[in-house]
Order: sequence, then structure tokens, then C-alpha cells
Amino acid sequence: MSITLENKKVKSSKKIIKNKNKDLVFTNLNIDGYEKVYKIENKKTKLLAIIAIHDTTLGPALGGTRILKYDTFDEALTDALRLSESMTYKAAVAEVGFGGGKSVIILNDEKDKTEKLLESFGEAVDALDGRYICAEDMGCTTKDVAIIRKKTKHVVGLVHDKSSGDPGRYTAYGVLRGIEASAKYLFNDVSLKNVKIAIQGLGNVGKNLIDFLFFKGADLIISDMDEKKLKEFSLKYGTEVVSKEDILKVKCDILVPCARGGIINKETIKELNCSAICGAANNQLLDKDDASLLKEKNILYAPDFVVNAGGLLNVSIELLKDGYNPIISRNKIEKIFDEIYKIYEISKENNISTHMAAIKLAKNKIKHAIGSRQEKIYYPHIL
Ligand code: NAD
Repeated sequence: MSITLENKKVKSSKKIIKNKNKDLVFTNLNIDGYEKVYKIENKKTKLLAIIAIHDTTLGPALGGTRILKYDTFDEALTDALRLSESMTYKAAVAEVGFGGGKSVIILNDEKDKTEKLLESFGEAVDALDGRYICAEDMGCTTKDVAIIRKKTKHVVGLVHDKSSGDPGRYTAYGVLRGIEASAKYLFNDVSLKNVKIAIQGLGNVGKNLIDFLFFKGADLIISDMDEKKLKEFSLKYGTEVVSKEDILKVKCDILVPCARGGIINKETIKELNCSAICGAANNQLLDKDDASLLKEKNILYAPDFVVNAGGLLNVSIELLKDGYNPIISRNKIEKIFDEIYKIYEISKENNISTHMAAIKLAKNKIKHAIGSRQEKIYYPHIL
């Protein structure tokens, strides 16, 4: 097979990876720029999955498992490639001692997500012997990871006594630090008192962030799809409310996307009325060129994969020898301030977008092995 995918050459070759289950077939897709990309099939359990390992210079590849219906195999492959590459940069900037990976399980039908299918995916992860560590993601619940765990220890995000728990609060704290760095860069003052901040989305991250920002004295504007939630939060924090159509156009100092990806694009950029964008949502830019458009419009953009690394940092602490410690976690996430500020400076000095500056910073850390894994991984759920 030879196909072209987003200018990447794909030449596949069958590869038998030593595994206990003879029904599991790995095909190495040999994709330029990626260490390993496997198509994995098990006809008996109806498993069709992809594990993409982008770069393991700094440590084993860590990344969630998406379990979704995709229209085509190429669509699933594009998702795995794009997400595993951004995990590499996210982990590198955060210095967590992990590389970038991602997996997808392609479903024909929701009812195909059976225990047997998840177990055979676990066998596939196990056959890679720790080069890839999976976690929950879209369509993959904590129950699903517990089933995968039956066949491999290379899993994070399980519910157990030493678990790091819901990452939302820690991700929100990282976003707060990013917002403070943005305020310092814009106004030469970290204080958020009377800074006008518009939050899109009050989910696991947004609901924690609004609390942090309220007590910092920020002037808040909020929006969510859920009218009930919107009313509850506006009463609780005395905020202004705008519709989901208006949140990206509203006049504010800092816009905080905490809902969906792709919301910053050629169309929405024309209508933005903010000085900076700093939020948790993954893949906020529809296209990487959108970062240059923001720069032209003099809107400061905090790269999402740096701002939202709090969840990753938090879970990475779980895998240290002494196990999870919220104080270590908080102290590491605090440093997101420095990374964001550094990225703004690199962008200015080199006259490049902040998105490019963040990738430059990540690549530099990979080149010089800064933050590479020094100690082995301790899985708390097998102690
Ligand atoms: P969530 O699903 O808990 O919350 C999303 C909220 O956004 C919901 O309240 C939803 O009603 C609202 N929403 C959806 N579309 C909207 C729209 N068009 N306008 C306004 N509101 C809208 O998600 P979350 O866990 O809070 O994560 C938010 C974003 O941050 C996601 O993009 C996620 O991938 C990213 N992220 C989350 C974490 C984490 O720790 N949870 C970590 C890294 C990145």
C-alpha cells in the first residue's frame, strides 16, 4: 500500500510484533516524521486501531485513546498523526519526561465497543512494551481504561487510591498562570483586578477557572451552550452573560476558549475584539496560519498546548516513585507562567507567531534532551 496523507508519505509493511495473541496483526505504516505508526487489527474482536508514536527522545510516548466512529481510515490516521505530534510538543515544553503518542480505535458502530475489543487493544499496547502509554480521551471512559488495564500496565488515568483524579482543576490553574503571564506581557502587571476576561465554556476546566478568576478580581463575561449552567454561574459570580454566537466578538482584554477546537479561524479572527487569547481548549487554531493572522492583528495568542498542559503535568506526577503528590503537581503547573512569557518573548525577538515560537521552544528542548526522563516509570495501580 502507498498513499499520500497531508504531504506525508505512507508506505506500509506487515510486521509481526511479538504478542501472545496470534489474532493481533500489526502493520507498520512507515510515515515520514514519525517514529512508528501501527495499524492494528484483530478480526475476531473487530478491533481496528492506530497507535501513532511521534517522538520518544524525551521519554515513552504518552497520549489518550480516542474511540470514535470515523468516516474513513485516513480520517482516523490524520487524527492520530496530528494529535501525537502535538503531544510531543506539549510534553516537551512541560518537561514531563514523556514523548508524544496517540491512539484511535475506529468503530463501525457504537455497540462494537465491547469488552473483548478493549482487551485486544490492551494486548496491542502491551506488545509495545511501554513505548506507548495510553489514557482516556474522547469516547474512552475510565471504565474503558480499566478494561484495557486487564491486559497491560501501560495505562494512566485509572480510578484508584493513588490516582491524580479529575484533571480539570489543575488544567484551570495552568490556564490562570497563562492568563497572568499574558496580563504581565500586555499591561506589565500580573494583577487581574478589573481585567475584562471572557470565558467560552464552563465545563470541567471553565467552572474551576471562573472561581480562580473571580477571586483575583477579574471583570468576567461568560458563555455556554447550557442555559441552566449559564444562569447558575452568572448568579454565583455576578458576571455578564453573552450568547454563544457573541462570545468570540465581545470586547474584552483576554478571551479564554474552554470549549471546542477550531474556533480561531479566518472568519472568526475578523470579528475578534480582544487583546489576547489564552484558554484550555485543544486545537483552537483551525489552521496553523491562523496564528500569523492573529499576529498581524496584534492579538497575543497563548499556544493552547502550552497553556493546557496542567492535566498532563498532574497525571505525570502519579507515575513518580513516591506516587501522586498535589503539592508537586501545583508547583510544576505554576511554571506555565514562565513558559508562556518566554514564548511571547521568542515570538517578538524572532518576529514569528507565538504558535511557531512554542514549537521552536519544544524542538529545542527535544534537541538538547531538556526534561528527558531520568527515572523509570512507577505504575501506582500495580503496587
Ligand atoms: P467539558 O466538556 O467538561 O466542557 C465544555 C463546556 O463547553 C461545556 O459546558 C459545554 O456546554 C460548553 N460549550 C460547548 N460548545 C460551546 C460553545 N460553542 N459556546 C460556549 N460553550 C460551549 O470540557 P473540559 O474538560 O472543560 O475541557 C474544555 C476544553 O479544554 C476542551 O477543548 C478540552 O479538550 C480541553 N482540555 C481539557 C483538559 C481537562 O483537564 N479537562 C485538559 C486539556 C485540554
